[in-house]
Amino acid sequence: MEVLVVGGGIGGLATGIALRQAGHEVRVLERAAKIAEVGAGLGIWPNGRRALAALGAGDTPGLPVRRLHLRSWRGRLLSEVPLAELKRRYGSELIVMHRADLQGSLLEILGRHTVQLGSEVIGFEPSGSRVHVTLKSGRHCDTDLLVGADGIRSTVRQRLLTDGEPRFSGATCWRSVTRFALEEGTAFNWWGRGGEFGIFPLRDGSVYWFGVQNRPSGEAESARGRKADAMEAFASWPEVIPAVVQATHEGSILRNDLYDRPPVGRWSRGRVTLVGDAAHPMLPNAAQGACQALEDAATLGTSAQSGSIEEGLKMYEARRRHAANAIVSQSHRTARLVGSTNPLIIGLRDLLIAHAPRSVVWRQLESMMQPS
Ligand SMILES: Cc1cc2nc3c(=O)[nH]c(=O)nc-3n(C[C@H](O)[C@H](O)[C@H](O)COP(=O)(O)OP(=O)(O)OC[C@H]3O[C@@H](n4cnc5c(N)ncnc54)[C@H](O)[C@@H]3O)c2cc1C
Repeated sequence: MEVLVVGGGIGGLATGIALRQAGHEVRVLERAAKIAEVGAGLGIWPNGRRALAALGAGDTPGLPVRRLHLRSWRGRLLSEVPLAELKRRYGSELIVMHRADLQGSLLEILGRHTVQLGSEVIGFEPSGSRVHVTLKSGRHCDTDLLVGADGIRSTVRQRLLTDGEPRFSGATCWRSVTRFALEEGTAFNWWGRGGEFGIFPLRDGSVYWFGVQNRPSGEAESARGRKADAMEAFASWPEVIPAVVQATHEGSILRNDLYDRPPVGRWSRGRVTLVGDAAHPMLPNAAQGACQALEDAATLGTSAQSGSIEEGLKMYEARRRHAANAIVSQSHRTARLVGSTNPLIIGLRDLLIAHAPRSVVWRQLESMMQPS
C-alpha cells in the first residue's frame, strides 16, 4: 500500500519507518525547507525507548539519569523519582537525548530521499478507495493511507475533526542546551510559585534546561532579550538556576508558549489518521509527548501489517487512544498544580509530594510505561 505521512518531526519520521517496516511504500511530506535541528533536550522514558528499539533506533545516543530530585523553589528536597526501580521493572532508564540526535537517527534509518521537503499539505478528500491530497504548491497526489503527523496545529486534524485552536496553558517556556558542570547523572526539577525549572545532564558535558512561568499568550520579549528575561524570571530561585541561564548563549535560547488540546474520542476517519502532537498534543509536564509519538508510530506499524486499512486504524486507535489521552489529562492537571500561585495550594502540594507513599508515585509512573 502507498502511504503519505504529513510532517517530518519525530512522530512523522518514526511513522515512516514503522510503516516501511510493515512492508508499505512511504513518502513523508514536510513543509519546512530543511529538517530543523531544535537545540534542546528530550527525556525518553522506557516506553519511548521500547518503541525506539522496535524502530531500529535503540542505539540513539543519550545519557541515563541516575537520580531525579524534585525540589521546592526554595531548594528543599521534596521527593526522588524511583528511577532505579523503573530500570529493574522495565529494563531501561530515563535517558536524556539531544533532539537533534534523535531526529538524525530517525532520518538516517528512514532515508533522506523518503522526505520531500518544502511540501506543505493544505487539504485532502476521499477519492474512491484512495485519498486525494492537495499541496500549497498547487500539486496533488493520491494515496491509500494518509497519516497526519503535522503537530499541534495540524492541518490534517483540522480537516478531520474541525476542533478549532489549541488550548493555552497560561505559561511560557524558555529552554536551551549549554555546557555546565553538574553532578554526573543527577537531574533536578524545582516547583515554585507559578512555574518550574529543570536541569538534565546530557552526554557531552552539557546540560538541557527549561524554565516555565505563567505569562500571557504571545507576550513580547523585552528589549534586553530572552536570556535577561529568563534570568529575571528565576532570579530568586536556587543559585544554580540563574547560573545555568547565565552560562547559556543568548542565541540558543528557545521560547514557546505552552498549549495542549482536550482529549478526543477519535483520531481516524476512513483512510486518514493522526499520530503524535496532531492526535494528542500534551503539556510537557510528564515529558511524554515524543515518547507517545514513538509509541503511536510503532503501534500503527504493527496494526497496519494485515487486514484492511480501516481495520488496521481501528486496532491502532484501540491500542493507543486511551493511554495517550490519559497522559494529556494528567499533564494538564500537573501543569495547573505547578502553575499555582496560591500559597495554600502550594503548601499543600509540596506537603503531599513530600509524603506521598511510594506506591502512589509508582502507580503514576507505571501507567505510562505499560506496552500498548
Ligand atoms: C518545552 C517542551 C519540552 C518537552 N519535553 C519532552 C520530553 O522531555 N520528552 C518527551 O517525550 N516529549 C517532550 N516534549 C514533547 C515533544 O517535543 C513533542 O510531543 C514531539 O516533538 C511531537 O512530535 P510531532 O512529530 O508529533 O510534532 P512536531 O514536532 O510538531 O512535528 C510536526 C512537523 O510537521 C510539519 N508540518 C506542520 N504542518 C504541515 C503541513 N501542513 N504540511 C507538511 N508539514 C507540516 C512541521 O514543520 C513539523 O516538522 C516537550 C515539548 C515541549 C514544548
